[in-house]
Amino acid sequence: MNQGLGRKRIAGTDIEVSPLGFGTVKFGRNQGVKYPEHFTMPDDREMFELLNLARELGMNLLDTAPAYGTSEERLGELFVRHKGFREQWVICSKVGEEFINGESCFDFSGQHIRFSVERSLKRLNTDVIELMLVHSSGDDVNIIEQSGCLEVLADLKKEGKILASGMSTKTVEGGILALKHSDVAMVTYNLNEQAEKQVLDYALEQGKGILIKKALASGHACLSGQDPVLESMKLVFSHPGVSAAIVGTINPAHMQQNAEACIAASA
Ligand code: NAP
Repeated sequence: MNQGLGRKRIAGTDIEVSPLGFGTVKFGRNQGVKYPEHFTMPDDREMFELLNLARELGMNLLDTAPAYGTSEERLGELFVRHKGFREQWVICSKVGEEFINGESCFDFSGQHIRFSVERSLKRLNTDVIELMLVHSSGDDVNIIEQSGCLEVLADLKKEGKILASGMSTKTVEGGILALKHSDVAMVTYNLNEQAEKQVLDYALEQGKGILIKKALASGHACLSGQDPVLESMKLVFSHPGVSAAIVGTINPAHMQQNAEACIAASA
């Protein structure tokens, strides 16, 4: 197995991940997404080939969510068909956002969080999910202070159903508050949007984990500049607080390019 990407421990946890993670929105949903171009979801064979390529390139971090349509179910079916494949991944999934009849809706109640984690375990055909994040609607601080969702995730961690908890946030205040109450924040940071850099700084100071989402600005960063993928990776990995960047692609050539850029940027 090519370990060219290496591994980094997510600060504050015992979980080791490749600096480049694989985002799977496009495995389960092609409606209501903000990508520059429409796309057809990969079929099962194409999906398995993409996952195998990701492994060959040294990736071990897989990002999914109930909000990504059928992504969790499709991954779970594949884990059943290919014995031993699930064990090769650190899985990050989420709670709080649902995608129903083409629309996002949110429920951060304790009852829903617990239901959702149990459902993700079943869908993914696994006994434990390594990382479980609250999928914020944008109202980060209120969600954390009013719903008790991070406390429920902490209970699920004690029960051994998840190994680490956190929140995918959209504000500086929310990212910092999430880190005070959990292990990891997933934060937007790319060539177009760096407003949440303070969350990265805070995580570094406090020894907490950071996952970057939208490292390529959902593909928009790739539309201009000299070598936008390399420039994006250089920006992301210049911050020592970053554990990994989750990048979504259903194009094998793009995946290869992203892995090479990640290695070059981390050198
Ligand atoms: P992204 O990774 O910044 O960009 C993905 C887009 O960039 C895709 O349309 C992809 O198209 C394109 N792309 C990838 N590599 C490329 C390359 N080398 N050259 C040109 N285009 C390239 O944004 P994202 O998909 O929005 O976010 C990444 C992942 O983060 C998601 O899959 C998801 O797992 C996670 N995420 C989480 C949240 C959250 O709230 N928690 C929100 C958004 C995303 P091709 O398929 O054609 O390569």
